[in-house]
Amino acid sequence: MIPGPDLILGCPHCGALSRLFTLASSEAEGAISWTDGYQQFPHAPRQPNVVRCHACSQLHWVAECKEIGMIDPVGMEPEGGVPRFALFEKPEQAEPGAPPPDGWVNAPHMQSLDEAGYFAALSGGLAKTPEQEVELRVHAWWRGNDRFRKLESSGRYPTSNEAIENLERLIVMMEGGDHEFVLFRAEALRQLGRFEEAEEALYGLCSDYALAREKANELINAKSRDLEVLFA
Ligand SMILES: [Zn+2]
Repeated sequence: MIPGPDLILGCPHCGALSRLFTLASSEAEGAISWTDGYQQFPHAPRQPNVVRCHACSQLHWVAECKEIGMIDPVGMEPEGGVPRFALFEKPEQAEPGAPPPDGWVNAPHMQSLDEAGYFAALSGGLAKTPEQEVELRVHAWWRGNDRFRKLESSGRYPTSNEAIENLERLIVMMEGGDHEFVLFRAEALRQLGRFEEAEEALYGLCSDYALAREKANELINAKSRDLEVLFA
């Protein structure tokens, strides 16, 4: 993994500046796929999709931020210690070695949300379309499941009322969707212990997904609700 420059982004609510990392190159090596559809890439961290502003505390989509510029990542400045930077909106750029604009160097990095953060995004009306609602709900599910990814003990499935309602809503929203949604839906049903419906949900999944279907059926037959590694 080779880091790229940090983007300097402005909060759509208050304009406060944050940094967002980029990757110049990444490797899929060491990737882990989970039954809930989440893929972990140890050498390719993902940029957050929704964040909470460090200044005004409002939640917003990263895609709605104003793109201000880019700057060398922290600790990767060239010799002399002055980070290189580029302004997105100005055709004239500063002389090499000039210090970056005020607030850029100390702009904090954007932080990914946890499960509660995604629930707050949902209740705060960030989903303007069904696609965005599914995206937020899937992320809430993934972040809730994160606590089980390092556990060996059983009971690796959502149990809070909010998490269960989230899965129930996803199951309704994903009905009749494409193959990826079929798998998500079957997994949500399995994690809720609705094994017969989970089995039915998998009918009609094409052979491209044979491995995932086989694993899902195995877990359904064993009446397991636990999150598992699909392949690593
Ligand atoms: Zn803000």
